[in-house]
Amino acid sequence: MSSTYASSTREVERISQSKTMSEVKKKRRQYSAEYIKFGFIENPTNPSSPLCLLCLKTFSNEAMKPSRLQDHLNKMHPDKKDKNVAYFQDLEKKHNTQPSVVKLFSAAAKQDDDGLRASYNIFLLIAQKGKPHNIGEELILPAINEVITTVLHKPAADIIRKIPLSNNSVQRRIDEMAENIEE
Ligand SMILES: [Zn+2]
Repeated sequence: MSSTYASSTREVERISQSKTMSEVKKKRRQYSAEYIKFGFIENPTNPSSPLCLLCLKTFSNEAMKPSRLQDHLNKMHPDKKDKNVAYFQDLEKKHNTQPSVVKLFSAAAKQDDDGLRASYNIFLLIAQKGKPHNIGEELILPAINEVITTVLHKPAADIIRKIPLSNNSVQRRIDEMAENIEE
């Protein structure tokens, strides 16, 4: 009994030691707070990778050293190389509070897609209820506008623009859908 326990304890020690060894071998460069002076922060979505606040490019962990970061700033952003730390700290603050350009683009693309899907579903409702096609533009859009501004407290124009419900497109799509429903 006791010998089994002793050997398994040794085994655990051996494994934990070898794990420590491999961790030491694969030591990654750590971000240092002073790298902000080169315009770099640690990429929040890709830990231990430096992210340039000026071009929003992420670099490999191997690039996480002052000489490489300084080099990037000098070569790629020569107009910013003499900016002080406060300038980059301000950039970092803006970066953290504003959605990234990438996020902004993908959110806009998704909204367009959602608007189109909403418009198809509304066309379908109009067709199913047998209502006149101009109801989309004359009643449904103003109703959506009302809900967005009064209930959601959002500017409605941007959202309304993404839901194509003009009379022509409604008539065309109702015809298409009527054909599909009859099949
Ligand atoms: Zn850059």
